[in-house]
Amino acid sequence: MDSKGHQLDVVFIPYMAPGHMMPMVEISRLFSSHGVKATIITTSINASRFKNIIDGDVKLGRPISILTISLPLMEVGLPEGCQNLASAPDPETTIKLFHAIEMVQPQIENLLTDLKPDCIVSDVLHPWTAYIALQLSIPRLAFSGSCFFSDCVSYCIQQYAPHKEIQLENEEFIVPNLPDQVVLTRSQLPDLVKGKTDFDELFERLREAEKRSYGVLINSFYELEPAYADYSRLQMGKRSWHIGPLSLFNREMDDKAERGDKSSIHTHTCLSWLDSKEPNSVLYICFGSLTRFTKRQLTEIATSLKESANPFIWVVGKVLKSSEDESREEDREEEWWLPRGFEEQMKGSGQGLIIRGWAPQVLILEHPAIGGFMTHCGWNSILEGVSAGVPLITWPIFAEQFYNEKIVTQVLKLGVGVGNKVWKVWATEESPLIEKERIKKAISTVMDDGEEMRKKAKKLSELAKKAVEEGGSSHKDMKALIEELRLYREKSIVQYNTQK
Ligand code: UDP
Repeated sequence: MDSKGHQLDVVFIPYMAPGHMMPMVEISRLFSSHGVKATIITTSINASRFKNIIDGDVKLGRPISILTISLPLMEVGLPEGCQNLASAPDPETTIKLFHAIEMVQPQIENLLTDLKPDCIVSDVLHPWTAYIALQLSIPRLAFSGSCFFSDCVSYCIQQYAPHKEIQLENEEFIVPNLPDQVVLTRSQLPDLVKGKTDFDELFERLREAEKRSYGVLINSFYELEPAYADYSRLQMGKRSWHIGPLSLFNREMDDKAERGDKSSIHTHTCLSWLDSKEPNSVLYICFGSLTRFTKRQLTEIATSLKESANPFIWVVGKVLKSSEDESREEDREEEWWLPRGFEEQMKGSGQGLIIRGWAPQVLILEHPAIGGFMTHCGWNSILEGVSAGVPLITWPIFAEQFYNEKIVTQVLKLGVGVGNKVWKVWATEESPLIEKERIKKAISTVMDDGEEMRKKAKKLSELAKKAVEEGGSSHKDMKALIEELRLYREKSIVQYNTQK
């Protein structure tokens, strides 16, 4: 409440994909923990992924609620359950879902006009929220889910186009003008950077909308990437507030266990399996919510895990089907495919625990038995690994994941890569095979010889925890933002009254 008894009122509009939605829900919970009235707008199926957690906050007396809207699924020819990018099995469905999500604009605009909030926090993928915020004369804060570093890399590549000087796809180049030497190949750049794609128009709209926004929220902490936070603010001129790591907002066991969706494994089963292992001995493998590998690639991963002989937890994602698979009835059913007999063998020997579907990732990473994390380099996953003090094995696939890999391997030196060099759109195109020898080498570097990296990771984990405590850098930025939004509101009321 401000001095006049007004409670700041903020509406949150997440995108319907786990890596976007979860941190946005955490942002809304963070605002409400500071006494701000928070309203999250999404569909009821998406809300069911986090409703229990919000109910828990309400019981604690926090001013937070969910408002539901409906997705026009029939209009785009999608089944009722397909309301999140994680449930789209192929590119066609993903595009249809994109369209359905765009079509919610009028519903949300009506809600916003009725609610008259003091601020909108919107995912960048809803560019139209910038214009409704302007109409309502309220600030719009954009959230993309990425970090300062990847934003800076993307900016410098756009600005200086170093890849245009390169002859070969796999030739290395240095990204100009960054605080550190960052090396990439053209094959690791998103298609969008290299030529025309179907998404050009959308990304142009996102850029325009960001220019019209009040600022951006970043899920990171200053001590992790100070040179890039400064670069983004001073050289790129971005107004931003760093308020992460957001996953650390989940302090209760239940919040961690239920984060993002209902877990496919009983928490107790998972934790007691981990309790039976030595400290830092277990490798955790998870490629986020959208990645799909082919059966050949899954076989290479399975074989390398078995031959490395480390204990492991592997969250097996859905398989990328070939046209051959599609034609065979029995394969159509096999969403979480593994080589025959692998799971039983690993279970029998006690070496591996397989999770098919959704894992309580934050809870697992925080367990002292975890000694390494093989990740697709989604920013949430990297930050969760860092927050837990775990060194990383990087295996980027698409989006800005190759940029994220470089902060891990080249700047922070917290991990090693399996050596994927080729960016492939979404999780829907087959990537070149990474053979088991390369996977085994990366595993051994981190699990057997990773003491230095582990030490660095543990130090950063302490800094991450401090950043979100009272007086820490992220905590301070959050408080400064709320204060600024309060002043913005008071000023607009004064302006409105003087214009009358
Ligand atoms: N996640 C999880 N359990 C899973 C898979 C993913 O909790 O089985 C969470 C993970 O902790 C992270 C998010 O989903 O917070 C994935 O986001 P990220 O940015 O890493 O990747 P994306 O899924 O967006 O590619």
